[in-house]
Formats: sequence, structure tokens, C-alpha cells
Amino acid sequence: MPDSKFDSFIYDKDNSVHFLDEIEDDNTYYSKYYEHMLCPECEIATVTRSHSKNGKLYIKTNKNSKHGITNGIPCYLAQPPAPQYVIKGHLRQLRNNHNLQNKLKTLIRILKKREVAKNTNIDKESYTDALSLYYTPKNKAVKNRAVIPKYSINQWYYIPKNEIVAIYGKVKIEVHVISNDDNTKQNKYWRFYNVKSNKLITSMWANKYPNDIEDGIYYFATFGTKEQYKSFYNLIPFDSVEGISLEKVK
Ligand SMILES: [Zn+2]
Repeated sequence: MPDSKFDSFIYDKDNSVHFLDEIEDDNTYYSKYYEHMLCPECEIATVTRSHSKNGKLYIKTNKNSKHGITNGIPCYLAQPPAPQYVIKGHLRQLRNNHNLQNKLKTLIRILKKREVAKNTNIDKESYTDALSLYYTPKNKAVKNRAVIPKYSINQWYYIPKNEIVAIYGKVKIEVHVISNDDNTKQNKYWRFYNVKSNKLITSMWANKYPNDIEDGIYYFATFGTKEQYKSFYNLIPFDSVEGISLEKVK
């Protein structure tokens, strides 16, 4: 079973959530955060920085450290990531049952709740409900519980390429329209910016999205992939209508 890789942690000295981009720098990491990092979900397991073969950082559970169990359900990050084929089948089923929006709205609800409670002493709703699934692995008789990995859109650089994951966060959206070369068709796309730094994060084609979204700051959640387009990485939603959930902040 592969371990979960994730993009955030709790710093045990300020009890708040921190992200991968804050531990990029070795000096900061070793002088401040090393051995002071807890699971951002259960706050019980200790976690650590690691890097994949291509050098990209991620956070993982320390060997032999155990995650918490709440009401019989293991911590979201104690559950292995589901294989991609399973995630695709699961999302197709959710789409057929018109259930994609429910799951995405749960992500936004948790995001808002945790934003308000800066200290983490809140009754935490787990991501498990929105992102877990069961499947029967090949050549096995028993079902496995697994989860769809989730990433903050503000940690875009660290999101794995060409894999369907949940991507969510508070983000600034700008609506743009371009015409194709012979001016016969207009294409609408959204640009996402980091709310704090105002830096461009990524873009997404939005022709099919029905609502007239205006520029502004939104809570955003989608199931989608990060895919190369020319020299950029675009966000490609699994479903360009039902697979996107938005709530305006201001
Ligand atoms: Zn945990």
C-alpha cells in the first residue's frame, strides 16, 4: 500500500496549519520545523518532509508513527491513496448520481470552518467523508478503503502532474476571453491568483461552465488534473460543469 503524500502540517509550537512552500528552505526547515510537525488532520501522528525521485518535496507520516481514529474511522491521511483507475470510476459514478457537487461543497465547508478557527482546537470534520471510497483490488476478495488525495490550489507547484486529485482553496479568479486565429470562436478561461501574493497560479478553460462568473475571490474546489499546455500547467477539471464548486468570498 502506498503511503499518503500531503502538502500541509501542524506546527506544534503555534498549533496552526503550515504548507510545503514554507519548508522548502533547508535552513528554515531544520532550525524551526524539523521534529515539530504533526498530521494536519488528526494532530496525533508525527510527520516529516521528504522528496520524490524528481526532487519534488512532499510531507509524509514518520515511520512507526500512528494516526488517530475518530468514531472508528482512521484519519484521512492514514488511508492509502486510491489507484487512479479507481478514482476515475468513482468520480464517474458520483457524476451519474449527481453527487459530485455534494462532495465538493463538503470540501469548501471544511475549508471555511478551518479558516475561521485559526487555532485548531475545533471539532474537526474529516475529509474522509468527501474523499474516501471502497474498492476490491485485482485478485483480492476483500474491499479496501482508500482516499482521493487532496491539494491546496495555493500549493500548485507540488501537485502531481496528470493525476486526478481534489484541488481546493481560497483563490482569486479572473475571467478572460480570447478569440481564435480567424476570429470565428471565442474561448473563455479563468486565471487563478494567490490571494496573498497576487501571483498567477494556473489557468483553466471555462467555456462550458454555465454561470457568469465575475472576477473576485472565491472558495474553490474541483476534482481535476494538472496538465501541461504549451509551457504552462493548466487545471483540467474531471467534469467542467458539475465537477467545479465555487462560493464567492467578496
Ligand atoms: Zn492523521
